[in-house]
Formats: sequence, C-alpha cells, structure tokens
Amino acid sequence: MVKCPKCGAEVITPIKTWSIRKKSVKTGKNELIMGLFECPNCKTKFRTAIKTEIKPKETISIKDMVEKIKDIKGGLMQTLKNLREKIKTLETERANLMMEIEKLKKMAESRVNALESEVNMLREEVKSLRELLGYTEEETEKEK
Ligand SMILES: [Zn+2]
Repeated sequence: MVKCPKCGAEVITPIKTWSIRKKSVKTGKNELIMGLFECPNCKTKFRTAIKTEIKPKETISIKDMVEKIKDIKGGLMQTLKNLREKIKTLETERANLMMEIEKLKKMAESRVNALESEVNMLREEVKSLRELLGYTEEETEKEK
C-alpha cells in the first residue's frame, strides 16, 4: 500500500507494475518492483517502488547448472543404454525360447505321429489276433 504524494490518500492497487534489476556488490542482485499508481482521490498518477526483493547471490551458477544438466543427461543416456541392452538381450532370449518351443513342438508332434502309427499297428495286430482266435467284437464286449 502506498500513499498519494499530493493528498496522502492510500492507493491500494497499482495500474501497472514492472521490475527493475539493480546490481549490488554486496548482495548480488536486487530486484526492485515498481508500480504506477493513480490516486482515487485526486487522480494524480505517480510511480513508486513497492518492494525490494533481495535475492541472495544465486547459489547455483549457470556453469553449475550446465554441469548438473550434463550429469542428469549422462545418467539418462546411461539408463537408456542399459535399457536398450536389456531389451536386446531379452529379445534374443525370446527368439531363442521361441525357437526352442518350435523345436519342442515339432518333437512332440513327431512323437505323437510315431505313437499314433504304433497304436494303429497294435490295433491291427489285436484285430488280426482276434480273427485268428475266432473272437468277434461282440464277444469281447460280453466278456467284460
Ligand atoms: Zn491524491
């Protein structure tokens, strides 16, 4: 809140504000907020400083920040590299496993085929043995 320099009336809100940066040897940088006011009483327009923000000497210099960003970037790059390598390894493993599965599937299929033909052969054998012994299918059912 400021007072009109002419009539002393209190002016609460400024029409416009802007900041001025001043260099100070002791504190680093001073930021001065200026305001343009209009007195509601006498319509005098005046400008005055509202407040001074004293910023402590910037603890992080641009150079430090650049270094920090570089570190973060480096870390990210490393992470990405690790992830890419992991993905590559996993993809290779996946491909190997798929091949293995395919192989096992083929093996199982050929096993099934072999067993099927063996079973068929045995069936034929049983059938011919029954015929040889004079058994019919019906008689076998009755025996059970
Ligand atoms: Zn005034």
